[in-house]
Amino acid sequence: MKIAVCVKHVPEGQSKIDAGSKRLDRSGEGALNHFDANAVEEALRLKGESDTEVVVVSMGPERAADSLRKALAMGADRAVLVSDAAAAGSDLVATSRVLAAALEREGADLVLFGQQASDADGAVLWAAVAERLKRPVVSQAAELTLQDGGLRVKRQTEFGYDVIEAPLPAVVAVSDAINEPRYPSLKGIMGAKKKQQDVLSLGDLGVDSGAAGEAGSRTTVLSLGSPPSRGDAKKIEGGAETAEQIVEFLTERRLV
Ligand SMILES: Cc1cc2nc3c(=O)[nH]c(=O)nc-3n(C[C@H](O)[C@H](O)[C@H](O)COP(=O)(O)OP(=O)(O)OC[C@H]3O[C@@H](n4cnc5c(N)ncnc54)[C@H](O)[C@@H]3O)c2cc1C
Repeated sequence: MKIAVCVKHVPEGQSKIDAGSKRLDRSGEGALNHFDANAVEEALRLKGESDTEVVVVSMGPERAADSLRKALAMGADRAVLVSDAAAAGSDLVATSRVLAAALEREGADLVLFGQQASDADGAVLWAAVAERLKRPVVSQAAELTLQDGGLRVKRQTEFGYDVIEAPLPAVVAVSDAINEPRYPSLKGIMGAKKKQQDVLSLGDLGVDSGAAGEAGSRTTVLSLGSPPSRGDAKKIEGGAETAEQIVEFLTERRLV
């Protein structure tokens, strides 16, 4: 059995937009998207139950290798980074095209994603990748079981759970409630350096450079602006009279 886990290297701290490129400023420190740590953990749990290889896959700049190394330190077996200057500026459509090509090359039985990326928060890439791979997809998996050549997922919804069964190969986006990701041990961190880490170009995947990056994207950021001001908003600072001031404010507007 082979499980591929898609992981994203995301900027740490407050997000900033670069006014020139109109893209997220990714020049500072980055880290493994914390939602993807749940997907890595789930793959490692399944690996513990059967003879399974866990491959972590990412598209991003060269320093995205740091996040892949963290996943290797947690216990993944191998890492694949698609890093190519022509892929910079890829939107959802272009990102899904490149990742699907990388996943096709791996031919995994199960592809796991986190529920969303903490920088762009689209929570939709897994659906686009599954559509390209022509595989069933289940999102918000709060419990995942492999059985009889297929999978069974307890899917978290607003009102409770759906129980969904699907055949393999399949794509699953796990919820952050599915598990508690482990911290890499010192032995894991040291061992990660020796594990196979491949860096691929678009050419290696047979993806034309015009099909990725801005050239392969269907969306363009036209302009950037601050959110409109909130009109007559009033900021009440913490202090002894705070509660009184809030009651006065609400009473004046007949809200209480
Ligand atoms: C005009 C435009 C330009 C953009 N330029 C860039 C850019 O240069 N760089 C950039 O990173 N984003 C860029 N984006 C954002 C890009 O569209 C999203 O990062 C991408 O579509 C994934 O969506 P998301 O991050 O919201 O992921 P979500 O849909 O929230 O992610 C779901 C899951 O997908 C996986 N995932 C997401 N991204 C990756 C990845 N790259 N590799 C592996 N797994 C992944 C993770 O498991 C994640 O938990 C751009 C968007 C636009 C509109």
